[in-house]
Amino acid sequence: MARKYFIAGNWKMNKTAKQAAELAKGLVASVGAVDKVDVAICPTFTSLAAAGKEIAGSKIKLGAQNVYFEASGAFTGEISTEMLLEAGCTYVILGHSERREYFKESDEFINKKVCASINAGLKPILCVGETLAEREGNVTMDVVSRQTLLGLEGVCEVGIKSVVIAYEPVWAIGTGKTATPAMAQEVHAGIRAILAKKYGGEIASGVQILYGGSMKPDNAAELLAETDIDGGLIGGAALKVDSFAALINAAVAAK
Ligand code: PEP
Repeated sequence: MARKYFIAGNWKMNKTAKQAAELAKGLVASVGAVDKVDVAICPTFTSLAAAGKEIAGSKIKLGAQNVYFEASGAFTGEISTEMLLEAGCTYVILGHSERREYFKESDEFINKKVCASINAGLKPILCVGETLAEREGNVTMDVVSRQTLLGLEGVCEVGIKSVVIAYEPVWAIGTGKTATPAMAQEVHAGIRAILAKKYGGEIASGVQILYGGSMKPDNAAELLAETDIDGGLIGGAALKVDSFAALINAAVAAK
């Protein structure tokens, strides 16, 4: 099944609403009409409205960086799927390694958010990836397999169609170290094989699997040339119009 490339920007805890609107505006001017590639930006909660306003009517979609699985109630500091949908979100990043590490999010907790998101009509971008110690201990695929399967527990054959997986080796995030295309491809193929076992080959071949970890304009083409790499979840390089636009253009030109 032909998969579209997908370039998603994870803005993390950067940009005030004013700065987010400026960046979104610049992106619309630069790549807002790109059709061949799926594009999303994921600002902070407080910048969703401002950025969303700028990208309205363009091909760029809005995503959030987290959500809670309960619909409403006494959950101070949390935000619901309905609130994200109302803010114009299509996507939500879940299971990012920073949330797993700093906020101690477990696979089970992430899974509840994946299921709640799918049920509400949001597309989860489920992040998986090993630490340096795990890679050096030769347990990369064990970790990635556990995170993928537990993250997708209870997700049916219909639900998986709205899920995007992001393979993000923790040691490559924000460090300037990138997995070689061959290393990344090996894990991406492994994830697709896990999906094929769970959902069948045809469904698995339709799932977008993004690479994340210091992906930049100068290494994007070689990563995107790999069979199972369908785009990127971009941190640092998503914070400037020029570099994010260059990544989208690399995806437009790839394969
Ligand atoms: C990320 O945080 O998802 C990420 C990939 O960051 P960076 O591109 O900065 O490594």
